[in-house]
Amino acid sequence: MENNRVVGRIFDIQKFSTHDGPGIRTVVFLKGCILRCRWCCNPESQSYRIQELKTEKKNKVVGYDTTVGEVMQKVMQDMPYYRRSGGGMTLSGGEALCQTEFANALLKEAKAQGINTAVETTACLPFESMIAPHLPYLDTVLMDIKHTDSEKHERFTTMRNELILDNARRIAESGCRLIIRVPTIPTFNDTPEEIRSIARFAASLPGVEEIHLLPYHRLGYDKYIGLGREYTMGDVPPPTKEKMEELRLVAEREGLRAILGG
Ligand code: SF4
Repeated sequence: MENNRVVGRIFDIQKFSTHDGPGIRTVVFLKGCILRCRWCCNPESQSYRIQELKTEKKNKVVGYDTTVGEVMQKVMQDMPYYRRSGGGMTLSGGEALCQTEFANALLKEAKAQGINTAVETTACLPFESMIAPHLPYLDTVLMDIKHTDSEKHERFTTMRNELILDNARRIAESGCRLIIRVPTIPTFNDTPEEIRSIARFAASLPGVEEIHLLPYHRLGYDKYIGLGREYTMGDVPPPTKEKMEELRLVAEREGLRAILGG
């Protein structure tokens, strides 16, 4: 099928993002994820189904089917901003690479138009069939390493981490620019030992120079209520600025440029 006619399911397109890769970017949020992280701030991204989200004002339908051509029309509206800032298009989710054909067609089309590309991925996918095909069309991969302890990873996300760690190495070895991100979650991975272990792993990956620590926040709380779901993080408060700075220094000591936030 011609690239532009490939259909996929998304739940949002956000323009003028400065936290999802270099420069000013348009972020396309694809629906569906493999993990179920307890702290997820986009619970409406997890299911592939089109859902209804109750809000104070009105009910909102989350998710719609669209074509690569329709998405690219919106992405290309901001070409002047990408050129000036070194920005482009980022695929996010959910897990953007779950919809392999759609993601691949979007990335190919963006590259054909000379647009810088990035993906935010869990990398919890079979490498050969669902990651490798995209790498020739990607300028930057932003991937999470949430924990180095597989059992704890599974307890908080429902999936073990062996495949993720293995894929991180394979992506790094492919030569694609890889940035490691760590959602920093109290009660899960916010001790100096845990961040040190993640940063040490990241620093061992060829070519990886940057690690981003993303502090836990509770902005997704209302969405859980709107979807009729329980918010399983309970009353856990976000980490303080001082705590995040302490963890940033721990990561930096492993030889990486450590950045707080996107
Ligand atoms: S990987 Fe991301 S989108 Fe998927 S459940 Fe976890 S936080 Fe949510």
